Amino acid sequence: MKTTTANLHISVNCKCPHCDAYLDIFDLENVKYALDETHNAPNCDLDIDCEECGEKFIVSDIFF
Ligand SMILES: [Zn+2]
Repeated sequence: MKTTTANLHISVNCKCPHCDAYLDIFDLENVKYALDETHNAPNCDLDIDCEECGEKFIVSDIFF
């Protein structure tokens, strides 16, 4: 029997309130730091720069 491996990919998705682009912000250092052991980040108020339109916005909470 052949074998292979599998990867679990985690993403943290939000929608830019300026241009409606869907962004995966998981790779941002402040996002990883904000997540707690249940993978939630209540009241995190993270400053995000939209990579599509360049505008700034705040992610107030991350829900798992
Ligand atoms: Zn945007």
